[in-house]
Amino acid sequence: MKSGWGFSAVIETEHASPILFDTGSDGSVLLHNMRQLGIDARQIGTIVISHAHGDHTGGLQSILEVNGDAEIYVPSSLWRRLPGRNVTAVTGPVQICAGVFSTGELKGIEQSLALMTDRGIVVVTGCSHPGVGEILRAASRFGKVSGIVGGLHGFHDFDRLRGLSLICPCHCTQYKSEICRLFRERCEECGAGLTLEL
Ligand SMILES: [Zn+2]
Ligand SMILES: [Zn+2]
Repeated sequence: MKSGWGFSAVIETEHASPILFDTGSDGSVLLHNMRQLGIDARQIGTIVISHAHGDHTGGLQSILEVNGDAEIYVPSSLWRRLPGRNVTAVTGPVQICAGVFSTGELKGIEQSLALMTDRGIVVVTGCSHPGVGEILRAASRFGKVSGIVGGLHGFHDFDRLRGLSLICPCHCTQYKSEICRLFRERCEECGAGLTLEL
Protein backbone atom coordinates (compact mmCIF):
# COMPACT_ATOMS: atom_id res chain seq x y z
CA MET A 1 0.00 0.00 0.00
CA LYS A 2 1.01 3.59 -0.54
CA SER A 3 0.19 6.10 2.15
CA GLY A 4 -0.29 9.84 1.94
CA TRP A 5 -2.13 12.78 3.47
CA GLY A 6 -5.84 12.27 2.95
CA PHE A 7 -8.71 9.90 3.50
CA SER A 8 -10.53 7.31 1.42
CA ALA A 9 -12.53 4.20 2.29
CA VAL A 10 -14.38 1.55 0.32
CA ILE A 11 -17.57 0.32 1.97
CA GLU A 12 -18.82 -3.11 0.96
CA THR A 13 -22.31 -4.18 1.95
CA GLU A 14 -24.38 -7.30 1.36
CA HIS A 15 -27.03 -5.60 -0.73
CA ALA A 16 -25.38 -3.05 -3.01
CA SER A 17 -22.28 -2.54 -5.10
CA PRO A 18 -19.30 -1.03 -3.26
CA ILE A 19 -19.28 2.60 -2.22
CA LEU A 20 -16.16 4.75 -2.38
CA PHE A 21 -16.18 7.38 0.34
CA ASP A 22 -13.63 10.11 -0.46
CA THR A 23 -10.69 9.65 -2.79
CA GLY A 24 -7.56 10.77 -0.93
CA SER A 25 -5.29 13.42 -2.40
CA ASP A 26 -3.76 11.48 -5.30
CA GLY A 27 -5.51 9.42 -7.96
CA SER A 28 -2.54 7.17 -8.74
CA VAL A 29 -2.19 6.26 -5.05
CA LEU A 30 -5.93 5.61 -4.83
CA LEU A 31 -5.99 3.29 -7.85
CA HIS A 32 -2.77 1.55 -6.76
CA ASN A 33 -4.15 0.82 -3.30
CA MET A 34 -7.46 -0.39 -4.70
CA ARG A 35 -5.60 -2.81 -6.97
CA GLN A 36 -3.50 -4.03 -4.02
CA LEU A 37 -6.70 -4.74 -2.08
CA GLY A 38 -8.30 -6.54 -5.01
CA ILE A 39 -10.99 -3.88 -5.43
CA ASP A 40 -12.04 -3.31 -9.04
CA ALA A 41 -12.49 0.45 -9.51
CA ARG A 42 -15.02 -0.22 -12.30
CA GLN A 43 -17.27 -2.09 -9.84
CA ILE A 44 -17.71 0.91 -7.53
CA GLY A 45 -21.41 1.75 -7.77
CA THR A 46 -21.45 4.94 -5.75
CA ILE A 47 -18.92 7.63 -4.94
CA VAL A 48 -19.57 9.86 -1.94
CA ILE A 49 -17.41 12.92 -1.32
CA SER A 50 -17.46 14.25 2.24
CA HIS A 51 -16.27 17.79 1.53
CA ALA A 52 -14.35 19.95 -0.91
CA HIS A 53 -10.83 19.70 0.52
CA GLY A 54 -8.15 18.35 -1.82
CA ASP A 55 -7.06 15.57 0.55
CA HIS A 56 -10.54 14.02 -0.04
CA THR A 57 -11.24 15.00 -3.66
CA GLY A 58 -7.74 14.64 -5.19
CA GLY A 59 -8.36 11.16 -6.60
CA LEU A 60 -11.86 11.86 -7.95
CA GLN A 61 -10.83 12.64 -11.53
CA SER A 62 -8.78 9.44 -11.77
CA ILE A 63 -11.59 7.18 -10.60
CA LEU A 64 -14.10 8.91 -12.88
CA GLU A 65 -11.78 8.17 -15.81
CA VAL A 66 -11.94 4.41 -15.21
CA ASN A 67 -15.51 4.28 -13.86
CA GLY A 68 -18.15 5.86 -16.08
CA ASP A 69 -21.25 4.66 -14.24
CA ALA A 70 -20.97 5.34 -10.53
CA GLU A 71 -23.56 7.60 -8.97
CA ILE A 72 -21.94 10.55 -7.23
CA TYR A 73 -23.06 12.24 -4.01
CA VAL A 74 -21.40 15.50 -3.02
CA PRO A 75 -22.30 18.13 -0.42
CA SER A 76 -24.25 20.91 -2.11
CA SER A 77 -21.39 23.35 -1.42
CA LEU A 78 -19.28 21.27 -3.82
CA TRP A 79 -21.85 20.54 -6.50
CA ARG A 80 -20.94 21.13 -10.11
CA ARG A 81 -22.13 19.63 -13.35
CA LEU A 82 -20.18 16.62 -14.57
CA PRO A 83 -21.50 16.02 -18.08
CA GLY A 84 -22.97 12.56 -18.53
CA ARG A 85 -22.77 11.82 -14.81
CA ASN A 86 -25.44 11.44 -12.21
CA VAL A 87 -24.39 13.88 -9.47
CA THR A 88 -26.60 14.40 -6.43
CA ALA A 89 -26.09 17.56 -4.37
CA VAL A 90 -26.75 16.59 -0.76
CA THR A 91 -28.30 19.03 1.69
CA GLY A 92 -30.48 17.08 4.13
CA PRO A 93 -30.13 13.49 5.36
CA VAL A 94 -30.57 10.98 2.55
CA GLN A 95 -30.39 7.24 1.92
CA ILE A 96 -27.52 6.30 -0.39
CA CYS A 97 -28.41 2.59 -0.66
CA ALA A 98 -29.77 -0.17 1.56
CA GLY A 99 -28.35 0.38 5.05
CA VAL A 100 -26.19 3.37 4.09
CA PHE A 101 -27.23 6.96 4.79
CA SER A 102 -25.71 10.42 4.53
CA THR A 103 -26.06 12.68 7.57
CA GLY A 104 -26.70 15.47 5.08
CA GLU A 105 -24.40 18.43 4.63
CA LEU A 106 -23.70 19.75 8.13
CA LYS A 107 -22.72 23.37 8.82
CA GLY A 108 -22.64 23.97 5.06
CA ILE A 109 -19.39 22.05 4.59
CA GLU A 110 -19.39 18.30 5.06
CA GLN A 111 -21.43 15.10 4.99
CA SER A 112 -20.64 11.86 6.82
CA LEU A 113 -21.99 8.36 6.32
CA ALA A 114 -24.10 6.37 8.76
CA LEU A 115 -23.83 2.61 8.17
CA MET A 116 -26.49 0.34 9.59
CA THR A 117 -24.62 -2.68 10.97
CA ASP A 118 -25.31 -5.58 13.34
CA ARG A 119 -23.61 -3.59 16.09
CA GLY A 120 -25.65 -0.42 15.44
CA ILE A 121 -24.82 2.68 13.44
CA VAL A 122 -21.19 3.12 12.48
CA VAL A 123 -20.29 6.62 11.32
CA VAL A 124 -17.64 7.26 8.66
CA THR A 125 -16.30 10.79 8.54
CA GLY A 126 -13.85 12.65 6.31
CA CYS A 127 -12.43 15.45 8.50
CA SER A 128 -15.33 16.11 10.94
CA HIS A 129 -15.20 19.87 10.25
CA PRO A 130 -18.80 20.32 11.50
CA GLY A 131 -17.69 18.83 14.85
CA VAL A 132 -17.86 15.22 16.03
CA GLY A 133 -20.73 16.02 18.42
CA GLU A 134 -22.79 17.50 15.59
CA ILE A 135 -22.06 14.49 13.36
CA LEU A 136 -22.94 11.93 16.05
CA ARG A 137 -26.17 13.81 16.75
CA ALA A 138 -27.08 13.83 13.05
CA ALA A 139 -26.24 10.13 12.64
CA SER A 140 -28.31 9.11 15.66
CA ARG A 141 -31.51 9.77 13.70
CA PHE A 142 -30.76 6.46 11.94
CA GLY A 143 -30.30 4.42 15.12
CA LYS A 144 -28.03 4.06 18.13
CA VAL A 145 -24.51 5.05 17.16
CA SER A 146 -21.94 2.46 18.20
CA GLY A 147 -18.84 3.39 16.24
CA ILE A 148 -16.93 6.09 14.41
CA VAL A 149 -14.23 5.75 11.77
CA GLY A 150 -12.44 8.61 10.05
CA GLY A 151 -10.81 11.99 10.55
CA LEU A 152 -11.84 13.63 13.82
CA HIS A 153 -9.81 16.83 13.35
CA GLY A 154 -9.28 18.81 16.60
CA PHE A 155 -12.02 16.97 18.50
CA HIS A 156 -11.19 16.69 22.21
CA ASP A 157 -14.54 16.35 24.00
CA PHE A 158 -13.57 12.72 24.64
CA ASP A 159 -16.60 11.98 26.86
CA ARG A 160 -18.73 11.95 23.73
CA LEU A 161 -17.02 8.72 22.64
CA ARG A 162 -17.75 6.90 25.87
CA GLY A 163 -20.71 4.78 24.70
CA LEU A 164 -19.05 3.63 21.48
CA SER A 165 -17.71 0.11 20.91
CA LEU A 166 -15.51 1.01 17.91
CA ILE A 167 -13.35 4.12 17.62
CA CYS A 168 -10.99 4.41 14.68
CA PRO A 169 -9.41 7.87 14.66
CA CYS A 170 -7.76 8.45 11.28
CA HIS A 171 -6.23 11.08 9.05
CA CYS A 172 -6.38 14.58 10.57
CA THR A 173 -7.31 13.46 14.12
CA GLN A 174 -5.15 15.69 16.28
CA TYR A 175 -5.59 13.78 19.56
CA LYS A 176 -5.13 10.27 18.15
CA SER A 177 -2.81 9.02 20.89
CA GLU A 178 -4.96 10.48 23.69
CA ILE A 179 -8.09 8.85 22.25
CA CYS A 180 -6.37 5.48 21.86
CA ARG A 181 -4.97 5.69 25.39
CA LEU A 182 -8.41 6.52 26.86
CA PHE A 183 -10.34 3.87 24.90
CA ARG A 184 -7.63 1.25 24.42
CA GLU A 185 -9.85 -1.83 23.96
CA ARG A 186 -12.25 -0.11 21.58
CA CYS A 187 -9.67 1.73 19.47
CA GLU A 188 -8.48 0.53 16.06
CA GLU A 189 -5.30 2.01 14.70
CA CYS A 190 -5.97 3.45 11.26
CA GLY A 191 -3.78 3.42 8.18
CA ALA A 192 -3.66 2.66 4.46
CA GLY A 193 -5.04 -0.83 3.84
CA LEU A 194 -6.87 -1.26 7.16
CA THR A 195 -9.90 -3.54 6.76
CA LEU A 196 -12.68 -3.47 9.32
CA GLU A 197 -15.49 -6.00 9.45
CA LEU A 198 -18.59 -4.43 11.00
ZN1 LIG B 1 -8.86 15.98 5.50
ZN1 LIG C 1 -10.91 18.81 5.44
